[in-house]
Amino acid sequence: MEKSIAGIHHVTAITGDPQGNLDFYVGVLGLRFVKKTVNFDAPDTYHFYYGDDLGRPGTILTFFAWPNLPVGQHGTGEVAALAFSIPPTALAYWQERLSQRGISVEGPLTRFDEQVLRFSDPNGLPLELVTHPVASSSAPWTLGPIPTEFALRGFHSVTLAVASPELTGAVLTQVLGLQSLNRNGQRARYAAGDGTGAATLVDVLLLTATPVPRNIQGLGSVHHVAWRTATFDEQITWRERIAATGLRPTAVLDRNYFRSIYFKEPGSVLFEIATDEPGFAIDEDPTELGVHLKLPAWYEEQYAEIERQLPPVEIPAFEPGRG
Ligand code: ZN
Repeated sequence: MEKSIAGIHHVTAITGDPQGNLDFYVGVLGLRFVKKTVNFDAPDTYHFYYGDDLGRPGTILTFFAWPNLPVGQHGTGEVAALAFSIPPTALAYWQERLSQRGISVEGPLTRFDEQVLRFSDPNGLPLELVTHPVASSSAPWTLGPIPTEFALRGFHSVTLAVASPELTGAVLTQVLGLQSLNRNGQRARYAAGDGTGAATLVDVLLLTATPVPRNIQGLGSVHHVAWRTATFDEQITWRERIAATGLRPTAVLDRNYFRSIYFKEPGSVLFEIATDEPGFAIDEDPTELGVHLKLPAWYEEQYAEIERQLPPVEIPAFEPGRG
């Protein structure tokens, strides 16, 4: 088994408006809607999955739709920003596309020799598009609204804001096996593997002179970040390794498309380790991902009742490659 976790598997955030969420992530950012299901712990609410054409690990952004939650307040103890990779030649396209839709864009900013655009989703979730050399060689979803050469290439990184950056950094390096790379201003960068692969970077914000209050989770907050491991067997080994450090991982939970364990790192960010197997094609043909409401076997008998409780939503219409 590898000494380092393989990178980001998925990130899960919170929205209050399932249709607005679909309109933004498919209609504006051009991600593929890969699964319409429910929160397995609260099946009267949606759980949406977005990603590349198959929802490959490293491209998967998921949302719990919890309409009655207040808007979150950003602070320490959370994922402070979620960055997608774009090819360097896509920067001007995205600046214009986001601005044309009335989205306030900060940047381009230079960070670690890359260019960054910063903006927020309709619930205030902080997002970034980062030019990354690897992005040009990875394949995006070719049937989405964005011209292929400009489409998002999965995650670039997550940025963590925590009360004790050293303690969080120690978990990243000593438990998850990431390597510490260089620092740039107020951020320390860590990498899974050599950091040149897709979705392998983690930035930890260093403390500023002005104390930052604790975050209050709500709409527009990240709920957790999941790291990837290839197989069920490897996940068991990770679970043992994490437990041996005194952190307290949950039992293995069956999330239908992957299996999960969860634990809190010392800075209060919820970490998950999710398996690459079995993936999103287990209950839908790859050409039809996201089209139908899919429920795990243990909810099948209640399918009609669960579906009735959910607000109807539609995947926004678009012309492939033409918005
Ligand atoms: Zn998760």
